[in-house]
Amino acid sequence: MPRGGKRSGAGRRKVEAESKAPNKARASSILDGLALTDDEWKAQGHPDHATAEPEPRVADFAATGDYRQARKWWEASKACQCEDCLWRRDCLQPGPAGREARRYLWDRRDGHSVRNINHIHDKPIDLNVNLSMAEIVRAVRHRKQEYERSRK
Ligand SMILES: [Zn+2]
Repeated sequence: MPRGGKRSGAGRRKVEAESKAPNKARASSILDGLALTDDEWKAQGHPDHATAEPEPRVADFAATGDYRQARKWWEASKACQCEDCLWRRDCLQPGPAGREARRYLWDRRDGHSVRNINHIHDKPIDLNVNLSMAEIVRAVRHRKQEYERSRK
């Protein structure tokens, strides 16, 4: 009876964040992509897809700000959701959030250790993004329903 050899699942477990993190080549291509306009980026294989969400109409919102917000989320809901696009959207956020995401990719591209900051991305961010998006959409819909009910 053969003994020993490699047990499957033996040894140090691969760190999830590391296996999901973009490698050098992908990090540079995402960073290079930041120089492109949204239209140019879409043309490179990230087209919008159909969304089940109805397009928000100005008339449905009491406040212009609410409409603008809903419109922004709607646009995001039909955008490509591939990992590169999630990174692109992270990187293009205004303020420190975008800077952190870019710094992460720069480090990745240049082969620096990113251990000190990868707590930002060691969770399945795409999942978090989609969840919060769904919650936001639900909240907007709820508010819209409330508004319509109050008009009757
Ligand atoms: Zn994409």
